[in-house]
Amino acid sequence: MNYKNNNFYIEKIKADNLIKKYGSPIYCYSNKRLVDNIINFKNSFKSFNPLICFSVKSNYNSTILRIIKQHGLGADVVSDGELKKVLSLGFKPNRIVYSGVGKKFEELKFAISKNILLINVESESELKNIKKIAEKFGKKVSVGLRLNPNIDAKTNTKISTGRIQDKFGLNGNDIIKILNKFKNSRNIKIKCLSVHIGSQITQNKPYNNVLVAINKILSKSKYKFEYIDLGGGMGISYVKNNKKLDYSKLSKNIYKFSKKNNCKIIFEPGRSIVGNTAVLLTKVIYIKNSSNKKFIIIDAGMNDLIRPALYNAAHDIIPLIKKTSKNSCSHDFVGPICETSDRFLKTKNFQKIYEGDNLAIKDVGAYGIVLSSNYNLRPRPIEIIIKNSKIKKISKKQRLNDII
Ligand SMILES: *Cc1c(COP(=O)(O)O)cnc(C)c1O
Repeated sequence: MNYKNNNFYIEKIKADNLIKKYGSPIYCYSNKRLVDNIINFKNSFKSFNPLICFSVKSNYNSTILRIIKQHGLGADVVSDGELKKVLSLGFKPNRIVYSGVGKKFEELKFAISKNILLINVESESELKNIKKIAEKFGKKVSVGLRLNPNIDAKTNTKISTGRIQDKFGLNGNDIIKILNKFKNSRNIKIKCLSVHIGSQITQNKPYNNVLVAINKILSKSKYKFEYIDLGGGMGISYVKNNKKLDYSKLSKNIYKFSKKNNCKIIFEPGRSIVGNTAVLLTKVIYIKNSSNKKFIIIDAGMNDLIRPALYNAAHDIIPLIKKTSKNSCSHDFVGPICETSDRFLKTKNFQKIYEGDNLAIKDVGAYGIVLSSNYNLRPRPIEIIIKNSKIKKISKKQRLNDII
Protein backbone atom coordinates (compact mmCIF):
# COMPACT_ATOMS: atom_id res chain seq x y z
CA MET A 1 0.00 0.00 0.00
CA ASN A 2 1.71 3.11 -1.23
CA TYR A 3 1.65 6.18 -3.45
CA LYS A 4 2.64 5.94 -7.09
CA ASN A 5 2.49 9.18 -9.10
CA ASN A 6 0.56 10.73 -6.20
CA ASN A 7 -2.14 8.06 -6.35
CA PHE A 8 -2.66 5.71 -3.43
CA TYR A 9 -2.46 2.07 -4.49
CA ILE A 10 -3.37 -1.14 -2.77
CA GLU A 11 -1.06 -3.57 -4.54
CA LYS A 12 -1.71 -2.86 -8.25
CA ILE A 13 -5.10 -1.21 -7.79
CA LYS A 14 -5.69 2.54 -7.62
CA ALA A 15 -7.75 3.06 -4.47
CA ASP A 16 -9.65 6.01 -5.93
CA ASN A 17 -11.11 3.72 -8.61
CA LEU A 18 -12.44 1.36 -5.96
CA ILE A 19 -14.71 4.06 -4.55
CA LYS A 20 -15.91 4.89 -8.07
CA LYS A 21 -16.69 1.22 -8.60
CA TYR A 22 -18.12 0.12 -5.24
CA GLY A 23 -19.10 3.34 -3.47
CA SER A 24 -17.96 4.03 0.08
CA PRO A 25 -17.10 3.27 2.81
CA ILE A 26 -15.18 0.08 1.95
CA TYR A 27 -12.83 -2.06 4.00
CA CYS A 28 -10.02 -2.92 1.62
CA TYR A 29 -7.33 -5.52 2.47
CA SER A 30 -4.00 -6.35 0.87
CA ASN A 31 -3.30 -10.04 0.45
CA LYS A 32 0.45 -9.42 0.33
CA ARG A 33 0.50 -7.45 3.58
CA LEU A 34 -1.29 -10.28 5.34
CA VAL A 35 1.04 -12.96 4.00
CA ASP A 36 4.11 -10.83 4.79
CA ASN A 37 2.92 -10.29 8.36
CA ILE A 38 2.41 -14.01 8.92
CA ILE A 39 5.82 -14.88 7.51
CA ASN A 40 7.48 -12.11 9.48
CA PHE A 41 5.84 -13.21 12.73
CA LYS A 42 6.88 -16.82 12.17
CA ASN A 43 10.45 -15.85 11.28
CA SER A 44 10.81 -13.60 14.31
CA PHE A 45 10.25 -16.51 16.66
CA LYS A 46 11.49 -19.47 14.66
CA SER A 47 14.29 -20.29 17.15
CA PHE A 48 11.68 -21.93 19.39
CA ASN A 49 9.00 -22.77 16.80
CA PRO A 50 5.91 -21.62 18.73
CA LEU A 51 2.36 -22.71 17.98
CA ILE A 52 0.81 -19.50 16.63
CA CYS A 53 -2.94 -19.36 17.21
CA PHE A 54 -4.48 -16.37 15.44
CA SER A 55 -6.86 -14.40 17.65
CA VAL A 56 -10.06 -14.78 15.66
CA LYS A 57 -11.88 -12.01 17.49
CA SER A 58 -9.65 -9.41 15.79
CA ASN A 59 -10.95 -10.40 12.34
CA TYR A 60 -13.14 -13.34 11.42
CA ASN A 61 -13.69 -12.77 7.74
CA SER A 62 -13.69 -16.23 6.11
CA THR A 63 -11.27 -15.28 3.33
CA ILE A 64 -8.82 -13.75 5.81
CA LEU A 65 -9.06 -16.81 8.06
CA ARG A 66 -8.47 -19.17 5.11
CA ILE A 67 -5.26 -17.35 4.18
CA ILE A 68 -4.13 -17.51 7.79
CA LYS A 69 -4.88 -21.23 7.94
CA GLN A 70 -3.09 -21.90 4.66
CA HIS A 71 0.05 -20.47 6.22
CA GLY A 72 -0.08 -22.93 9.05
CA LEU A 73 -1.51 -20.90 11.91
CA GLY A 74 -3.98 -22.25 14.44
CA ALA A 75 -6.77 -20.28 16.09
CA ASP A 76 -7.52 -18.65 19.42
CA VAL A 77 -11.29 -18.38 19.85
CA VAL A 78 -13.47 -16.75 22.51
CA SER A 79 -16.98 -18.04 21.75
CA ASP A 80 -18.66 -21.08 20.28
CA GLY A 81 -19.48 -18.95 17.25
CA GLU A 82 -15.79 -18.43 16.58
CA LEU A 83 -15.03 -22.07 17.36
CA LYS A 84 -17.69 -23.32 14.94
CA LYS A 85 -16.45 -20.93 12.28
CA VAL A 86 -12.81 -22.03 12.40
CA LEU A 87 -13.79 -25.71 12.51
CA SER A 88 -15.99 -25.20 9.45
CA LEU A 89 -13.03 -23.60 7.67
CA GLY A 90 -10.90 -26.66 8.38
CA PHE A 91 -8.68 -25.47 11.23
CA LYS A 92 -7.40 -28.58 13.01
CA PRO A 93 -8.79 -29.03 16.55
CA ASN A 94 -5.27 -29.69 17.86
CA ARG A 95 -4.33 -26.14 16.81
CA ILE A 96 -7.24 -24.40 18.53
CA VAL A 97 -7.24 -22.81 21.98
CA TYR A 98 -10.35 -21.41 23.62
CA SER A 99 -10.09 -18.35 25.88
CA GLY A 100 -12.63 -16.18 27.70
CA VAL A 101 -13.98 -15.46 31.19
CA GLY A 102 -17.58 -16.46 30.60
CA LYS A 103 -17.83 -19.68 28.65
CA LYS A 104 -21.27 -21.17 29.17
CA PHE A 105 -21.88 -24.84 29.98
CA GLU A 106 -23.14 -25.54 26.45
CA GLU A 107 -20.11 -23.82 24.92
CA LEU A 108 -17.76 -25.91 27.07
CA LYS A 109 -19.62 -29.07 26.14
CA PHE A 110 -19.25 -28.30 22.45
CA ALA A 111 -15.54 -27.49 22.76
CA ILE A 112 -14.92 -30.70 24.71
CA SER A 113 -16.81 -32.75 22.13
CA LYS A 114 -14.44 -31.39 19.46
CA ASN A 115 -11.22 -32.33 21.31
CA ILE A 116 -9.53 -28.95 20.87
CA LEU A 117 -5.96 -28.46 22.08
CA LEU A 118 -6.73 -26.39 25.17
CA ILE A 119 -9.51 -24.69 27.02
CA ASN A 120 -7.88 -21.81 28.87
CA VAL A 121 -9.70 -21.64 32.17
CA GLU A 122 -10.28 -18.35 33.99
CA SER A 123 -12.04 -19.43 37.20
CA GLU A 124 -12.39 -22.46 39.45
CA SER A 125 -16.12 -22.58 38.71
CA GLU A 126 -15.36 -22.94 35.03
CA LEU A 127 -12.94 -25.77 35.73
CA LYS A 128 -15.59 -27.56 37.82
CA ASN A 129 -17.99 -27.34 34.89
CA ILE A 130 -15.35 -28.79 32.59
CA LYS A 131 -14.77 -31.64 35.04
CA LYS A 132 -18.50 -32.37 35.18
CA ILE A 133 -18.73 -32.58 31.40
CA ALA A 134 -15.51 -34.61 31.12
CA GLU A 135 -16.83 -37.15 33.64
CA LYS A 136 -20.08 -37.48 31.73
CA PHE A 137 -18.24 -38.03 28.44
CA GLY A 138 -15.64 -40.28 30.11
CA LYS A 139 -12.90 -38.03 28.74
CA LYS A 140 -9.69 -36.47 29.96
CA VAL A 141 -9.84 -32.82 28.93
CA SER A 142 -6.72 -30.72 28.34
CA VAL A 143 -6.84 -27.29 29.91
CA GLY A 144 -4.70 -24.25 30.49
CA LEU A 145 -4.91 -22.02 33.52
CA ARG A 146 -4.93 -18.32 32.72
CA LEU A 147 -2.74 -16.38 35.09
CA ASN A 148 -3.51 -12.79 35.95
CA PRO A 149 0.06 -11.72 36.77
CA ASN A 150 -0.92 -8.23 37.98
CA ILE A 151 1.28 -6.56 35.40
CA ASP A 152 0.56 -3.26 33.72
CA ALA A 153 0.97 -3.70 29.95
CA LYS A 154 1.49 0.08 29.59
CA THR A 155 -1.25 0.35 27.05
CA ASN A 156 -4.69 1.98 26.94
CA THR A 157 -6.52 1.13 30.17
CA LYS A 158 -9.54 -0.15 28.20
CA ILE A 159 -7.43 -2.84 26.53
CA SER A 160 -5.41 -3.83 29.61
CA THR A 161 -6.23 -7.32 30.84
CA GLY A 162 -3.44 -8.36 33.21
CA ARG A 163 -3.85 -6.10 36.23
CA ILE A 164 -5.50 -7.35 39.39
CA GLN A 165 -8.44 -4.95 38.88
CA ASP A 166 -9.12 -6.54 35.45
CA LYS A 167 -11.65 -9.38 35.24
CA PHE A 168 -9.32 -11.82 33.46
CA GLY A 169 -7.44 -14.83 34.76
CA LEU A 170 -6.59 -16.32 38.15
CA ASN A 171 -4.10 -14.85 40.59
CA GLY A 172 -0.92 -16.75 41.46
CA ASN A 173 -2.24 -18.17 44.74
CA ASP A 174 -5.38 -19.51 43.10
CA ILE A 175 -3.31 -21.13 40.35
CA ILE A 176 -1.27 -23.01 43.00
CA LYS A 177 -4.45 -24.01 44.87
CA ILE A 178 -6.08 -25.31 41.69
CA LEU A 179 -2.94 -27.22 40.69
CA ASN A 180 -2.91 -29.00 44.05
CA LYS A 181 -6.58 -29.78 43.83
CA PHE A 182 -6.72 -30.97 40.23
CA LYS A 183 -3.26 -32.29 39.39
CA ASN A 184 -4.28 -35.90 39.95
CA SER A 185 -7.74 -35.56 38.48
CA ARG A 186 -8.86 -38.40 36.27
CA ASN A 187 -10.78 -36.14 33.92
CA ILE A 188 -8.70 -32.97 33.80
CA LYS A 189 -5.18 -32.66 32.47
CA ILE A 190 -3.64 -29.27 33.24
CA LYS A 191 -1.24 -28.84 30.36
CA CYS A 192 -0.74 -25.14 30.03
CA LEU A 193 -0.18 -21.91 31.89
CA SER A 194 -1.53 -19.05 29.82
CA VAL A 195 -1.35 -15.31 30.12
CA HIS A 196 -2.53 -12.36 28.04
CA ILE A 197 -1.96 -8.97 29.63
CA GLY A 198 -3.47 -6.66 27.05
CA SER A 199 -3.38 -5.36 23.52
CA GLN A 200 -1.35 -2.84 21.49
CA ILE A 201 1.71 -3.39 23.70
CA THR A 202 4.68 -1.47 22.31
CA GLN A 203 7.32 -2.08 24.98
CA ASN A 204 9.28 -5.23 25.78
CA LYS A 205 9.26 -4.68 29.52
CA PRO A 206 5.73 -5.99 30.23
CA TYR A 207 6.52 -9.24 28.38
CA ASN A 208 9.74 -9.64 30.33
CA ASN A 209 7.81 -9.07 33.55
CA VAL A 210 5.38 -11.78 32.49
CA LEU A 211 8.23 -14.27 32.08
CA VAL A 212 9.43 -13.41 35.59
CA ALA A 213 5.93 -13.89 36.99
CA ILE A 214 5.56 -17.26 35.25
CA ASN A 215 8.96 -18.40 36.48
CA LYS A 216 7.80 -17.64 40.03
CA ILE A 217 4.72 -19.82 39.61
CA LEU A 218 6.79 -22.62 38.08
CA SER A 219 9.32 -22.70 40.88
CA LYS A 220 6.67 -22.33 43.58
CA SER A 221 4.40 -25.06 42.22
CA LYS A 222 7.10 -27.44 40.89
CA TYR A 223 4.48 -28.35 38.31
CA LYS A 224 5.54 -29.30 34.79
CA PHE A 225 3.47 -27.53 32.16
CA GLU A 226 3.77 -28.84 28.61
CA TYR A 227 2.79 -25.46 27.16
CA ILE A 228 3.26 -21.86 28.15
CA ASP A 229 0.79 -19.65 26.28
CA LEU A 230 2.05 -16.06 26.20
CA GLY A 231 -1.08 -14.66 24.53
CA GLY A 232 -1.03 -11.86 21.97
CA GLY A 233 -0.92 -8.12 22.41
CA MET A 234 1.99 -7.25 20.13
CA GLY A 235 1.46 -3.63 19.12
CA ILE A 236 1.65 -2.08 15.67
CA SER A 237 2.51 1.38 14.43
CA TYR A 238 -0.69 3.43 14.02
CA VAL A 239 0.88 6.88 13.85
CA LYS A 240 4.35 8.15 13.06
CA ASN A 241 6.92 7.67 15.83
CA ASN A 242 4.82 5.02 17.53
CA LYS A 243 7.08 3.06 19.88
CA LYS A 244 7.78 -0.43 18.58
CA LEU A 245 8.26 -3.81 20.17
CA ASP A 246 11.74 -5.23 19.64
CA TYR A 247 10.87 -8.70 18.32
CA SER A 248 14.46 -9.87 18.21
CA LYS A 249 15.08 -9.12 21.91
CA LEU A 250 11.70 -10.56 22.83
CA SER A 251 12.47 -13.70 20.86
CA LYS A 252 15.84 -14.17 22.57
CA ASN A 253 14.28 -13.86 26.02
CA ILE A 254 11.49 -16.29 25.29
CA TYR A 255 13.92 -18.74 23.70
CA LYS A 256 15.97 -18.80 26.92
CA PHE A 257 12.81 -19.17 28.98
CA SER A 258 11.53 -22.09 26.89
CA LYS A 259 14.88 -23.89 27.04
CA LYS A 260 15.15 -23.45 30.80
CA ASN A 261 11.62 -24.71 31.41
CA ASN A 262 11.53 -27.24 28.58
CA CYS A 263 8.10 -26.15 27.39
CA LYS A 264 6.43 -25.38 24.09
CA ILE A 265 5.38 -21.77 23.54
CA ILE A 266 1.98 -20.69 22.22
CA PHE A 267 1.20 -17.20 20.92
CA GLU A 268 -2.23 -15.71 20.23
CA PRO A 269 -1.55 -12.69 18.01
CA GLY A 270 -4.43 -10.78 16.42
CA ARG A 271 -3.58 -7.16 15.72
CA SER A 272 0.03 -7.84 14.71
CA ILE A 273 -1.16 -10.23 11.99
CA VAL A 274 -4.09 -8.27 10.52
CA GLY A 275 -3.94 -4.70 11.89
CA ASN A 276 -2.07 -3.02 9.05
CA THR A 277 -3.56 -5.16 6.27
CA ALA A 278 -6.60 -2.95 5.60
CA VAL A 279 -7.67 0.62 4.97
CA LEU A 280 -11.16 2.05 5.24
CA LEU A 281 -11.87 4.02 2.07
CA THR A 282 -14.22 6.93 2.61
CA LYS A 283 -15.49 10.09 0.91
CA VAL A 284 -15.74 13.63 2.23
CA ILE A 285 -19.42 14.58 2.33
CA TYR A 286 -19.20 18.12 3.67
CA ILE A 287 -16.62 20.57 4.94
CA LYS A 288 -17.78 22.95 7.62
CA ASN A 289 -15.67 25.89 8.71
CA SER A 290 -15.92 26.68 12.36
CA SER A 291 -14.09 29.57 14.11
CA ASN A 292 -10.52 28.31 13.81
CA LYS A 293 -10.95 24.84 12.37
CA LYS A 294 -12.53 22.75 9.66
CA PHE A 295 -14.85 19.86 10.34
CA ILE A 296 -14.30 17.31 7.59
CA ILE A 297 -17.47 15.24 7.59
CA ILE A 298 -16.80 11.86 5.99
CA ASP A 299 -19.13 8.99 5.08
CA ALA A 300 -17.48 6.48 7.45
CA GLY A 301 -18.77 6.66 11.00
CA MET A 302 -18.28 5.02 14.37
CA ASN A 303 -20.65 2.26 13.26
CA ASP A 304 -18.04 1.34 10.62
CA LEU A 305 -14.96 1.81 12.81
CA ILE A 306 -15.52 2.30 16.53
CA ARG A 307 -11.93 2.18 17.81
CA PRO A 308 -11.44 5.97 18.01
CA ALA A 309 -14.74 6.43 19.87
CA LEU A 310 -14.28 3.39 22.12
CA TYR A 311 -10.58 3.56 22.97
CA ASN A 312 -9.46 7.00 21.79
CA ALA A 313 -7.46 5.08 19.21
CA ALA A 314 -5.56 7.15 16.65
CA HIS A 315 -5.79 6.03 13.03
CA ASP A 316 -3.91 8.03 10.45
CA ILE A 317 -5.95 9.44 7.55
CA ILE A 318 -4.48 10.05 4.11
CA PRO A 319 -5.78 11.42 0.80
CA LEU A 320 -6.17 8.96 -2.08
CA ILE A 321 -4.81 11.58 -4.46
CA LYS A 322 -1.88 13.50 -3.08
CA LYS A 323 -1.44 17.22 -3.74
CA THR A 324 1.27 19.59 -2.66
CA SER A 325 -0.99 22.47 -1.54
CA LYS A 326 -1.43 22.69 2.23
CA ASN A 327 -3.99 24.02 4.67
CA SER A 328 -2.47 24.82 8.00
CA CYS A 329 -5.61 25.16 10.14
CA SER A 330 -6.87 22.37 12.37
CA HIS A 331 -8.87 19.58 10.71
CA ASP A 332 -11.33 17.45 12.66
CA PHE A 333 -12.30 14.37 10.67
CA VAL A 334 -15.74 13.34 11.91
CA GLY A 335 -18.39 10.84 10.88
CA PRO A 336 -22.10 11.32 10.15
CA ILE A 337 -23.37 9.53 13.28
CA CYS A 338 -25.36 11.47 15.86
CA GLU A 339 -22.79 11.12 18.64
CA THR A 340 -20.11 13.57 19.67
CA SER A 341 -17.63 10.72 20.02
CA ASP A 342 -18.06 9.90 16.32
CA ARG A 343 -14.76 11.50 15.45
CA PHE A 344 -11.57 10.28 13.89
CA LEU A 345 -8.27 12.06 13.51
CA LYS A 346 -7.62 15.64 14.55
CA THR A 347 -4.69 17.06 12.62
CA LYS A 348 -3.00 20.19 11.36
CA ASN A 349 -1.33 20.48 8.01
CA PHE A 350 -3.49 18.38 5.78
CA GLN A 351 -3.42 19.06 2.06
CA LYS A 352 -6.10 21.38 0.65
CA ILE A 353 -9.24 19.32 0.91
CA TYR A 354 -12.59 19.55 -0.88
CA GLU A 355 -16.05 18.05 -0.63
CA GLY A 356 -16.09 14.84 -2.69
CA ASP A 357 -12.41 14.04 -2.02
CA ASN A 358 -11.59 10.43 -1.23
CA LEU A 359 -9.56 9.37 1.80
CA ALA A 360 -8.22 6.26 3.51
CA ILE A 361 -8.32 5.62 7.25
CA LYS A 362 -5.29 3.42 7.84
CA ASP A 363 -4.59 0.21 9.78
CA VAL A 364 -8.17 -0.94 10.28
CA GLY A 365 -7.64 -4.68 9.75
CA ALA A 366 -7.92 -5.59 13.44
CA TYR A 367 -10.98 -4.78 15.57
CA GLY A 368 -12.43 -2.90 12.58
CA ILE A 369 -15.19 -4.72 10.73
CA VAL A 370 -15.75 -7.13 13.65
CA LEU A 371 -16.80 -4.22 15.88
CA SER A 372 -18.96 -2.54 13.23
CA SER A 373 -22.68 -2.22 13.78
CA ASN A 374 -25.92 -1.01 12.29
CA TYR A 375 -26.10 1.96 14.64
CA ASN A 376 -28.19 4.79 13.17
CA LEU A 377 -29.63 2.03 10.98
CA ARG A 378 -26.69 2.19 8.60
CA PRO A 379 -25.60 -0.89 6.62
CA ARG A 380 -22.17 -2.30 7.41
CA PRO A 381 -19.45 -1.52 4.87
CA ILE A 382 -18.40 -4.16 2.35
CA GLU A 383 -14.98 -5.81 2.46
CA ILE A 384 -12.72 -6.46 -0.50
CA ILE A 385 -9.26 -7.92 -0.80
CA ILE A 386 -6.65 -7.06 -3.43
CA LYS A 387 -4.12 -9.60 -4.65
CA ASN A 388 -1.85 -8.06 -7.26
CA SER A 389 -4.34 -6.61 -9.74
CA LYS A 390 -7.20 -8.90 -8.72
CA ILE A 391 -10.11 -7.55 -6.68
CA LYS A 392 -12.27 -9.94 -4.69
CA LYS A 393 -15.35 -9.07 -2.68
CA ILE A 394 -15.10 -10.93 0.62
CA SER A 395 -18.32 -9.92 2.32
CA LYS A 396 -21.79 -9.23 1.08
CA LYS A 397 -23.19 -5.77 1.03
CA GLN A 398 -25.93 -5.50 3.63
CA ARG A 399 -29.08 -4.40 1.88
CA LEU A 400 -30.73 -1.49 3.54
CA ASN A 401 -34.14 -3.09 3.06
CA ASP A 402 -33.05 -6.19 4.99
CA ILE A 403 -31.93 -4.25 8.01
CA ILE A 404 -34.97 -2.00 7.86
C1 LIG B 1 -7.78 -10.38 22.25
C2 LIG B 1 -6.94 -11.49 22.70
C3 LIG B 1 -5.76 -11.80 22.02
C4 LIG B 1 -5.24 -11.00 20.84
O1 LIG B 1 -4.74 -9.75 21.19
P1 LIG B 1 -4.00 -8.84 20.10
O2 LIG B 1 -3.66 -7.61 20.85
O3 LIG B 1 -4.95 -8.58 19.00
O4 LIG B 1 -2.79 -9.58 19.64
C5 LIG B 1 -5.04 -12.91 22.43
N1 LIG B 1 -5.45 -13.66 23.49
C6 LIG B 1 -6.58 -13.38 24.17
C7 LIG B 1 -6.95 -14.25 25.31
C8 LIG B 1 -7.34 -12.28 23.81
O5 LIG B 1 -8.45 -12.01 24.51
